Amino acid sequence: MTTLAIHVPVLTYHSIHVDGTDYASNDHLGLAHDLELIHRLGFQVIGLERLIQAVTGGNWDAIPEKSVVLTMDDGSWFDWYDLPHPHHGSQRSMVNILRDFRIKHGPEAQPELQATSFVIGSPAARQSLDTSCMIGLDWWQDDWWAQAHAEGLLRIANHSWDHRHGSLPDSLRYSFSASYGQFNDVNTLEESHWQIRQTQNYLGSLLSAPPTPAFAYPFGDVSEYVAEQYLPKYGESMGLLVAMTTEAAPVTPGNDCWRLPRYVFRRDWTSPEELTKVLLG
Ligand SMILES: [Zn+2]
Repeated sequence: MTTLAIHVPVLTYHSIHVDGTDYASNDHLGLAHDLELIHRLGFQVIGLERLIQAVTGGNWDAIPEKSVVLTMDDGSWFDWYDLPHPHHGSQRSMVNILRDFRIKHGPEAQPELQATSFVIGSPAARQSLDTSCMIGLDWWQDDWWAQAHAEGLLRIANHSWDHRHGSLPDSLRYSFSASYGQFNDVNTLEESHWQIRQTQNYLGSLLSAPPTPAFAYPFGDVSEYVAEQYLPKYGESMGLLVAMTTEAAPVTPGNDCWRLPRYVFRRDWTSPEELTKVLLG
């Protein structure tokens, strides 16, 4: 019996993380630089949906040996629009960084080039978070999701209804739980539906094709209830086949499909040398 040596790193960026104008302080510059490195090292970017097919169907043979998946979390305008950051200048959007790579190297260089953007469903939560966590210029709207998903270079997926974010006012929260600010205390059917199914329904109403069948735990916090009971029971019926944590490890055959690991830029690598170690395992 042969053992498959396949391991696929899933990389995570946050386009709202713009704290400076160099690699280690700016996720846009990080992505642009990392794409070149990924290509130079002979890795092939594949879409998350292709990895999901391998995880759920077992057909790992269809995955190139040196594959990598790109994801973005939280889904602000910085994913889609070039924007003038008030402190750090003009920022190339994440999707335009992918397009720039395509233009520079040609479509054959990375034929499956794609990233998945995990978005926060609730418009009111995004509007509130825009003020508390970003710049307060209303740059967290969902007007671009349908076009992005249809074009395919940046696919859309579920990152919960309100991220269970601790900065949200009481009026927008599901409950007055003291644990708001983390996701691992979601332990009821009602709140799971509110956080996850409601977002699937909202994405379904906006997108012309089903969202990528993945859920990303806010903060990377895995709720035992959601991972062990809720998603195994209700996930598939609402179009979810996997869930992503932020455990720093590659996806391998045998992973629990409701706990697929991901690496996070600036936490798990802060230099091209460190990314090389992540990629080469
Ligand atoms: Zn997030």
